[in-house]
Amino acid sequence: MASEDTKDTVTVGEFLELQKSLEEEAREVLPWNFDRCTYSKGYLRQAVYACKTCKSSSDSSPGGVCYSCSIACHADHDLIELFNKRNFRCDCGTACFEESACQLEPKPQDALNETNCYNHNFEGRFCWCKVDYDPEREEANMHQCVLCEDWFHENCIDGEKQGEKNFSLPDLDSFEEYICRTCTSKHSFLKLYKNSYMFFSGTTVRKNEEASATDNDKKQKNDEFQVETFVSTNKRKLGDDQEIDLKITALTKKAKNDIECKLERWESVMDSIDVDLFCIQNWRDELCRCNKCMYLYKSHQIEFILQEEETYEPPHDDDTHTSLFDSGMKLLAQMDRVTAIEGAIAYAKLRDDLVEFLKPFDDSGKTVTEQDIRAFFESKRSERKPSDTNSFF
Ligand SMILES: [Zn+2]
Ligand SMILES: [Zn+2]
Ligand SMILES: [Zn+2]
Ligand SMILES: [Zn+2]
Ligand SMILES: [Zn+2]
Ligand SMILES: [Zn+2]
Repeated sequence: MASEDTKDTVTVGEFLELQKSLEEEAREVLPWNFDRCTYSKGYLRQAVYACKTCKSSSDSSPGGVCYSCSIACHADHDLIELFNKRNFRCDCGTACFEESACQLEPKPQDALNETNCYNHNFEGRFCWCKVDYDPEREEANMHQCVLCEDWFHENCIDGEKQGEKNFSLPDLDSFEEYICRTCTSKHSFLKLYKNSYMFFSGTTVRKNEEASATDNDKKQKNDEFQVETFVSTNKRKLGDDQEIDLKITALTKKAKNDIECKLERWESVMDSIDVDLFCIQNWRDELCRCNKCMYLYKSHQIEFILQEEETYEPPHDDDTHTSLFDSGMKLLAQMDRVTAIEGAIAYAKLRDDLVEFLKPFDDSGKTVTEQDIRAFFESKRSERKPSDTNSFF
């Protein structure tokens, strides 16, 4: 049928028009400049991508690179999007990656980011179940923990995956952020927030540790919140016994004139109970800021929890409104990242080849068929390494 024929053919003009709209689309998905590495900015909370292709040896953990480097230096590598990680400095071109140099900012040969933390996320594994993450196949919603910044499957959080649903997750729209049970156990004074109206909570009794008599005995308040126990645990952690003793004495004395501690009003939580916290909007305002609690945040090195953390965002690609950042973020979250990035890169790389390819058509006024275009991409594809399974073309 004639109408189908015209569907399959495009003129060069139409094709270039299509390219233009693709380019605009790409700009919307990747609204930020990727011409500067964040290395010189030091340790930041920023979007991090682990590169498995560049890791220095098979048993070492892959390093992480910044947004710009993920595109400019590692676009066709095996990348894992880790989303935001705090206190992270770009590893691109450092000793962590041995040979591969950074295209954007050369680093000193022996540069190494000593305080970067690498967990199982850098190997592409997330959650307690540590399954290999496959963005193509992952269907379950995942939530990032505010504290450890790991990502957890909904059905791992509520226990469904283990065949025992311990609680139902609150409605997705009703909470903003999530704190995992590993973190509330590690910083057990946070478990008490399950009593607060600013948090939904899910609780699980740890099976191998059914509430014992001894547990009940010390039930009075969360042990870590008791100053005595708190001193002894932190002595071990920090080592500087004397200084801590002095601080605690000063704090307990001062606490008498201090604002009342919210945690003291609340029901305690047994050690054997795991608490997941789903934080509703403005939940940080609810965090107690009495001297005792302030000292706890500090000694547990989680003071960042008190304020919404600043997250580095690269400069925009053009001078459009900042709202583009939000819409860009949303789009990027929905879209397969490899496709998005390679779309943008492929456009830039292919433009010249494509113009060359289209020239005879333009000169002769011939129409370009879908098959012609397909043949072009086919020839491009065969130029690439067979291992590049994630490739756009
Ligand atoms: Zn970088
Ligand atoms: Zn790489
Ligand atoms: Zn780089
Ligand atoms: Zn899981
Ligand atoms: Zn956590
Ligand atoms: Zn307090």
